[in-house]
Order: sequence, then C-alpha cells, then structure tokens
Amino acid sequence: MSNVSAYRASILHCLRDPGDDNEPLASAAVEYFEDGLLLVVDGYIEGVGPASELINTLPTDVQIVDYKGQLIIPGLIDCHVHYPQVDIIASYGERLLDWLEKYAYPAERKFVDANYAKEVAEFFVEELLRNGTTTACVFATVHPQSVEAIFEAASKVGMRLISGKVLMDRNCPEDLRDDPQTAYKQSRQLIEKWQGHGRLSYAVTPRFALTSSEKQLRGAGRLLQEYPDVYLHTHLAENEEEVEQVGRQFPWSRSYLDVYENFELLRERSIFAHCIHLNDDDRKQMAEQGAAIAFCPSSNLFLGSGLFELHAARQCNVRLGVGSDVGGGTSLSMLRTLGDGYKVLQLRGEKLTPFGGFYLATLGAAKALYLDDKIGSFAKGKEADFIVLDPARIDLLQRGGGTNDICSRLFAMFFLGDDRIVREAYLMGQARRPTRRAKIA
Ligand SMILES: [Zn+2]
Repeated sequence: MSNVSAYRASILHCLRDPGDDNEPLASAAVEYFEDGLLLVVDGYIEGVGPASELINTLPTDVQIVDYKGQLIIPGLIDCHVHYPQVDIIASYGERLLDWLEKYAYPAERKFVDANYAKEVAEFFVEELLRNGTTTACVFATVHPQSVEAIFEAASKVGMRLISGKVLMDRNCPEDLRDDPQTAYKQSRQLIEKWQGHGRLSYAVTPRFALTSSEKQLRGAGRLLQEYPDVYLHTHLAENEEEVEQVGRQFPWSRSYLDVYENFELLRERSIFAHCIHLNDDDRKQMAEQGAAIAFCPSSNLFLGSGLFELHAARQCNVRLGVGSDVGGGTSLSMLRTLGDGYKVLQLRGEKLTPFGGFYLATLGAAKALYLDDKIGSFAKGKEADFIVLDPARIDLLQRGGGTNDICSRLFAMFFLGDDRIVREAYLMGQARRPTRRAKIA
C-alpha cells in the first residue's frame, strides 16, 4: 500500500438499499463504525473499518487525519438541479407554469453572456461543495456557453457532474428558443467535446414535453442512439396543469411518459424529475426500461406541485434518487431536502426512514445515475468522494439532535443540519474546503 491517506472519524455508508428495514445495521444494509478509519490510495477507496483493527495494518509513515467526534459519509448526490436558477431561489407566489414565465426564463436569458455564465457556474459548484454535494445532475440553459461554463467549473475542482444544453423550441419566450436543427447540432458538438472528459458526462436535456416540438424530441432520440453512453435528463408529470396540457399537445399519447417513450427517450440513464402524477403502468414501464426518478420534495412543496408516491415507486422497483430542484427547491442542502422528503411522505401516510433517506442521497442516487460502480459508498475501488460532517457546529444538533444512536442523530441532521455542518468535502481524495463568502457582521 503506497501513498495511503487515512481518515479517522465515525463513518457511515450503505452497502445496499435498507428499504423500510427497521434494523438496517443488523441486516448489514448499512455499515457504521463509531471509531472508524477510511483508507484512500491515489484518490480511490482502499478500505474502511474499525480504527482499532486497521491502524496496525498501516505503514508507519502514514499520517492519520483526525476527525474524531465527526462523521464521514459518502459525498451527497443531487439528481436534479438547475444551476442558472440559483439567484431566483425563494421567489414568491407562483406555480410551475407561471413560475417559469415570471422567474425562470428571465433568469436563464442572462446566460447568453458567457462571462455571466462562468461567474454563476463557479459560485454554484462552490455552493454544492459547501453543502456536501459532490455529484450533481444539472440543467444548464438553452445556450451552449452555459454548458461550457458548468463543465469548466466542475472540471476545475475535479467534480463528477452531468449536464447538457436545454432543448426548447416552442411554448417559451422567442429569445430562449432553439430549433430542431441547431438543438441537434449544438448538442452533438457539446457531446463530442465533453462526454467522458474527466469526470463529466453529457445529458441530452429537453426541458419538458411542452417546450419541444415532435421534431425536436425525435432529434433528442436520435442523439441518444448515436451516443448510447449519454444521459437523458428532463421533467415528467410535475404539475396537474402541465399534465393536462401535455395531453392536449400530444393527443395520441397514452400518458405523459408515453410521449417520451414514443420518441425513444425512455431508457437506461434517463433521469426524470418529479414523476408525481403517474400511475403504476408508467412506473412499471420506467422500471423495465431502466429509467430513474429524481424525487424533489422541497420543490414540490414550494411550487405546490403535489406529493410524491414513494411507496408506489418502490413497489415498482424504479431507480430512485433525490433532487434539490433549485430554484423551484429552496435549498441546495441534500440533508434539508431529505427533511422535506420526510414531511411529504408524512402527509401521504408513508415513511421515509433515516437510513432510507440516506440511501436515496448516496448509493441509491448513484444507482439511479448508473454510477454505483464509481461513487455512493466506500466499497473498495470507488472514487474517494466523501464529506466530513461536524454536528457540533449547530447548537441544537449538539444538544437534542445528539441523542445517542447514529440513526436518530442522522435523522436530526435532515431538519437541523445544513451547509453549516459540512466541514470538508473531498473529491477523489482531495480536500476542497468549502469557503464561506457571506460576511457575518
Ligand atoms: Zn427542475
């Protein structure tokens, strides 16, 4: 073992889906070491286990980074977020379709300016790290320069990230429209340049069915056939009014999902945000085709879109992750997002268990994104993306939220924790210390 780095802390990660299991530690779906050691070699996980056992196996010159009293977990994964919308987070008063017109489109218009895109992209990547998010599936805007900006910003810090140019050629402002030919051509150029470049992957990104012509959706399907490794990232069945309009716009369709399926956009590595107003036929179809759902509870509450049916999605075995959906969502913190997920499910009479939520933002999300061979847990050989949480940084967590076992401490972090408890974020074993810009007077 040469070039070893060792990190000592409490360490938690999932080995498989804990589901609704009440004893996931006992059944070994989740592994926890109160005094653990994480070993990293050349940016990859070498091993994890009790410190008392592993310390003796290390070469004598290995420096141990001591995070005792703190918690190391795999880097959190945000399966659906819009980086151009960071500055319209928490904008008042609208539901989806009006919210797009009033806030999202004016914000996205500014990304015609490459310098502006660069500034926002760098801020966004830094903000992800501050929140402990080490991988994200990200909407850009219709402008190719917005995609260049986010890939460059992620590349600079070595972050694993998925993004793509938004495709929209109808039902949106004139100056944010492309057309099927330019959409296809620009996407192709971006794929050729960025797909598989370092840790970056491309997603063909029609905004949603309403904003693309059939010709454009067909072009998106063609891109996926030509580049089978790229992702498809879009929205599906978020809001009732949207679902009705899709029915009118595509009168031949069996359902909203059927529109995407018809254009061959339903497949492995297809990521659909929201999926609130679906039925079991849709869910089964998604599971069969290997597509994934990004559950976005904070956004669904904020825009009043509806309550996601987690149990039904689980029953149908659809791949599942969580998304902040900022700017519809109100926090980039995946901890807070899980807290909102819990509240949504309470309203439905369902449960999101602490470890079940943790899985959705780590290994489950990695599986949803077909990246579970690379990230999401501390299995040997995975990329060493991890974060260090220090609950003592928040008084309330330190007091009540510290009640004994790891399960209840984790749960309290969903509600009381946020970027303040993220002490470090490591990407491929490199510390990317989150900086704080805002000055507190
Ligand atoms: Zn969205």
